[in-house]
Amino acid sequence: MPDETQSATSFVEKPKTLAALREEISSGRTKATDLAASYYARIEEKNPRLNVYLSLTKERALAQAARIDALAAKGDPLPPLAGVPMGIKDALVVQGAPATAGSKILKGYQPPYDCTAVARLEAAGAVLLGKLNCDEFAMGSSNENSAFGPVRNPVDPERVPGGSSGGSAAAVAANLAVATLGSDTGGSIRQPASFCGVVGVLPTWGRVSRYGLIAFASSLDRVGPFAAHVRDAATLLGAIAGHDPMDATCSAAPVEDYAAASDKPAAGLRIGVPAEYFAEGLDAEVRAAIEKGIAALEAAGCSIHPIALPHTKYAVPAYYLIATAEASANLARFDGVRYGYRSPQSTSLAGMYAHSRDEGFGAEVKRRILLGTYALSAGYYDAYYRKAQQVRRILAEEFLRAFAQVDAIVTPTSPFPAFKIGEKTGDPLAMYLADIYTVTASLAGICGVSVPCGATRAGLPVGMQILAPHLGESTAFRVARAVEAAG
Ligand code: GLN
Repeated sequence: MPDETQSATSFVEKPKTLAALREEISSGRTKATDLAASYYARIEEKNPRLNVYLSLTKERALAQAARIDALAAKGDPLPPLAGVPMGIKDALVVQGAPATAGSKILKGYQPPYDCTAVARLEAAGAVLLGKLNCDEFAMGSSNENSAFGPVRNPVDPERVPGGSSGGSAAAVAANLAVATLGSDTGGSIRQPASFCGVVGVLPTWGRVSRYGLIAFASSLDRVGPFAAHVRDAATLLGAIAGHDPMDATCSAAPVEDYAAASDKPAAGLRIGVPAEYFAEGLDAEVRAAIEKGIAALEAAGCSIHPIALPHTKYAVPAYYLIATAEASANLARFDGVRYGYRSPQSTSLAGMYAHSRDEGFGAEVKRRILLGTYALSAGYYDAYYRKAQQVRRILAEEFLRAFAQVDAIVTPTSPFPAFKIGEKTGDPLAMYLADIYTVTASLAGICGVSVPCGATRAGLPVGMQILAPHLGESTAFRVARAVEAAG
């Protein structure tokens, strides 16, 4: 046995495909209960170093796996995700399991219900192993803002996994789950997927119910899957997408068969390449890897078209105004009364609010609440918040014009590969600029996929972001399959 702690890449292991797992379970060669137990054994061994799981839901997982085994033993038809071991970002609520959203302020909170995405996964047969670490209230790009310590990147444990859904990306990269759920407000699925070398999906805003997602910025928040294989990410999106009476903003548009759509060759698709995403600040090795990916798409029969998205440079400021404004309102509910933590120090009602919030929230969350409150305050509203909303509209229109000419747009997901833990924590602005390529699609409401696309010389994964118009997920998956096949 090689000593696994010796190798920097020893934590990386690719999960099997859903199709392979299904074959093993339906043929009786693998029992869902044994599979779940083997994942728990692996978690016990690797999690102390990676800090991916915050809590485990063993009892529920083993009961669900036993149900699947009983069906298989009877020869009954198995649900589509039968026995698939999955992890859930801790910003999504699961009944009876602690939900922290990476914050101390939710200490002791036990949600009384399942979020819609989790309920749908379980109805489809998935086995939920536990809850995954993330930046506090999903605010961050490195997972270093978690109150429970940073997640380590399985590719290189000295580096961040990206954020805010860092645990969700790292769990798949280290095979501590076959697939996971995360949330993406400004890049929190796509960026960690790219840093960890896995597939991450940003569904169209409204495609997946937000019921049971602890809100950060409601007009931007989305729930989406991570997987090791593009087709599996497509299958998972199909399982969680669709109308939900519990979320009035959830789209009633029919859910396509995304997995089948991803089987269609990408040949004939028109691919736009925006110059603004290849400008100053892009790491040379990331650029080279993405250019190779674009050449592979051309070789697969796509046509490549240079396009312009000139308002891209306004996206980071607009995003950080709108996201913080909405966060300042959403986080008002954490007051020491309704949920979790209450400061023992209080002698008055106002003091109880102030102390509870001061002791319960971390530094980044406080910074965002202050920024957002400022942007919304009388006298500044027009100059900041309204202006940001105008920029948002212009960005969305710019994308719509581009999608009249091309079927999909490809860019790097992040300007640089995974950075070292601690490297950017002293400079919030440098951290915010990590989101430069992802916040545009967030503001526009369009969909996308981050797919692994080569690596740097040091072996750090590079992700290609594939953007498609509203409800154009099938197209994004087709392109992603072509990139994956070329890799
Ligand atoms: N990194 C971005 C932020 O800190 C995006 C986070 C997210 O998508 N939840 O706001």
